[in-house]
Amino acid sequence: MERISVFDIFKIGIGPSSSHTMGPWRAAQRFLREVGRDGAFDHVASVQVDLYGSLAKTGAGHGTDLAVILGLNGDDPVTIPVEQVQPTLEHIRQTKTLNLAGQKIIPFDPEQDVIFLYHEILPYHANGLTFRAFFRNGAGFSQTYYSVGGGFVEKEGEHNLSASVTLPFPVDNGADLARWCREEGKSIDEIVFQNERTWRFPEDIRRGLIDIWAVMQQCVYKGCHTDGVLPGGLDVSRRAKALNIKLLSGQPYENLETWQELIRQGNWSFQLILKWVSCFALAVNEENAAFGRVVTASTNGAAGVIPAVMMYYACFCPEFTGDDGIIKFMLTAGEIGSLFKKGATISAAMGGCQAEIGVSSAMAVGALTACLGGTAAQVMMASEIAMEHHLGMTCDPIGGLVQIPCIERNTMGAIKAITAAQIALESDPTKAKVSLDAVIKTMKETAEDMNHKYKETADGGLAVQVTLGLVEC
Ligand code: SF4
Repeated sequence: MERISVFDIFKIGIGPSSSHTMGPWRAAQRFLREVGRDGAFDHVASVQVDLYGSLAKTGAGHGTDLAVILGLNGDDPVTIPVEQVQPTLEHIRQTKTLNLAGQKIIPFDPEQDVIFLYHEILPYHANGLTFRAFFRNGAGFSQTYYSVGGGFVEKEGEHNLSASVTLPFPVDNGADLARWCREEGKSIDEIVFQNERTWRFPEDIRRGLIDIWAVMQQCVYKGCHTDGVLPGGLDVSRRAKALNIKLLSGQPYENLETWQELIRQGNWSFQLILKWVSCFALAVNEENAAFGRVVTASTNGAAGVIPAVMMYYACFCPEFTGDDGIIKFMLTAGEIGSLFKKGATISAAMGGCQAEIGVSSAMAVGALTACLGGTAAQVMMASEIAMEHHLGMTCDPIGGLVQIPCIERNTMGAIKAITAAQIALESDPTKAKVSLDAVIKTMKETAEDMNHKYKETADGGLAVQVTLGLVEC
């Protein structure tokens, strides 16, 4: 079974998709490292990329071609300034060259050298891609990777390398997690923190999580202060900024801190809190759709659910305990996400949107329940409830863009999480009829039974009812 760190689940990057943007970007970087390993880098004359299955079908809308090009160009999704993305791509298109690994200029025509194989799918996973390097002496090197969801990448033939890591409290499923909590008398986040120490020093864990939270907050803030139309041709207008202005009725603030303080101090009705949570989620996913900087959580398409629920916790819950609460939230959410990855999937190309919004909602609710004082059993009950009511949710993005239904769907995932937390906190988990493991298994079987049209192919559902530029009622 995989050993997954919370830092594998929460990753800073660029939108719009973890499996179709972040994963392929990382695969390109990995390919370059492998080409360079035997000193072959100097001999590379040109490179090409083949995109298979879902990466081909929705790759254009999800920016897969752009991600592999930037990866080959030596850019990193964590550090590249987002305002540099489009100019860099434009330069590559115009000059028909790229700066391979940032080290040498080679000819590269995006139109010719990124090949969309719409009708081919590799057997291991729907998100396959093959990189080919051609050397000056006529030889070559190729390697296939799979973007298996949430930005995770596996090389052909090398699966589950993390299984060799030894953790103090190994967790393969919800039952393991519950047992460790019971036997050790610890909360979920305390168990996870001990496991995280296998990879990092305690201070690095805390600082790393707070840094990720800072990126999430910046993303929410930026989304709440940016308007206009999203790229891609669907003509979707951004809504978070107008909602933020309406909710604050012109009250002044200067920056993220004073904006948050203003929200915290407001005397908001239930209806207005619902609007705020929606506003936070819309803001993140509008940023995501606009190739902005987001945190994969557990995917990019669903990147708004967890920040929206964290903002709800930080702004509207008297139980909020500052950095300690944020760390507890993220450790708990990360562990729930890893349970779904191990037991089912967090890839929409394998499981539809239940694997994205459903998993993010289950992660958020577990964490919120823990932060509001729930027991480990209530945390798992809450996550089960959230997933139970996302089972079977299909992935059918219009135009292959991560916009409709994706952006609004994040608001739904966040609100369901908040509701499920309230149910779990008022329930006796010993009387629950469905365990977290049972719902994970159900999700996996539902994913296996789901028609491929609903697995991030844009071949079914809303994607075929509504075409670009023509909304049919
Ligand atoms: S429909 Fe759901 S799974 Fe599909 S791209 Fe949108 S958010 Fe992701």
